[in-house]
Amino acid sequence: MSFQDLGARLAEVADRVARAVVRGGHGQRVTLIAVTKTRGPDAVQAAWQAGVQNVGENKVQEALGKMAAVDVPVRWHLIGHLQRNKVRDLDHFALVHSIDRVSIADAVSTFGITRKRSVDALVQVNVAGEDTKGGFALAEMPAQSEQFVARAGLRITGVMTMAPLNADERTTRMVFQGARSARDLLVGAGHPAFDLSMGMSNDYELAVEEGATMIRLGTVLFGERGL
Ligand SMILES: *Cc1c(COP(=O)(O)O)cnc(C)c1O
Repeated sequence: MSFQDLGARLAEVADRVARAVVRGGHGQRVTLIAVTKTRGPDAVQAAWQAGVQNVGENKVQEALGKMAAVDVPVRWHLIGHLQRNKVRDLDHFALVHSIDRVSIADAVSTFGITRKRSVDALVQVNVAGEDTKGGFALAEMPAQSEQFVARAGLRITGVMTMAPLNADERTTRMVFQGARSARDLLVGAGHPAFDLSMGMSNDYELAVEEGATMIRLGTVLFGERGL
């Protein structure tokens, strides 16, 4: 695959993001995470050369393979469901976006304690209540935010969410606003939870309008994924 027009695509995204920040009025800085899942290590290499500093992968094993194959100092984000037996691999990631259940919060906390450090992570919220997605319901968040404060070894730096596939604009905004309210709740409970990871190729402008500080883009940068 050729990444020739990656620079132009990134410039277009940056421009759209800047305009969405103005429309939304949140005044936030937005970090672009290039999602390289299913692409080869050359996608990571190309992204770095085009000025991208953060890449996202949804599977630990696939990410570790790519890390071994590239020699560029990108920050790796784990954006997919994390299995308990993969928690020990978190040393290789700058940020986990997908603390989606109590048992994995506990496992990451235990891992951080054994490593004598805090693991930075985002709480995944399932605003629309989709069965196919993990994450905490908004209604659970007030109680959960207290629990997260109490866990050593795990530092919650924000919230992540995904809008339902093919949702209309109203629903998409409702999901992003829900995630923002969860973020505000965590901050209110004393977490340094300022990040809002939301927005993919088809909805990142809405996400930025609603306050996203991290957007996770694959298709719009690298083209459609094959099967
Ligand atoms: C694949 C994926 C993305 C990127 O999706 P695109 O539609 O290709 O931009 C973002 N977030 C998560 C969690 C993903 O799994």
